[in-house]
Amino acid sequence: MSTPAKPMPPCPVCKKTAMTRESAVFPFCSKRCAMVDLSHWLDGSYRVPGLSDMFHSPTQETSDFAAKLPGEEV
Ligand SMILES: [Zn+2]
Repeated sequence: MSTPAKPMPPCPVCKKTAMTRESAVFPFCSKRCAMVDLSHWLDGSYRVPGLSDMFHSPTQETSDFAAKLPGEEV
């Protein structure tokens, strides 16, 4: 199966050529740019009161942890 290589979108932060989709920091060009974008999120909407619960929404890990807790009161 041959898939034609599509042009990668530029890094949203510095507009340089981004990493491939296999990269852990995609669509950013580097981990630094990924952190820059993340900091923008943290400085912005994620700091709005009320959204903190969404930010700390239970992950699959915590859900699994809760499932292991005894559900019956003794
Ligand atoms: Zn970049």
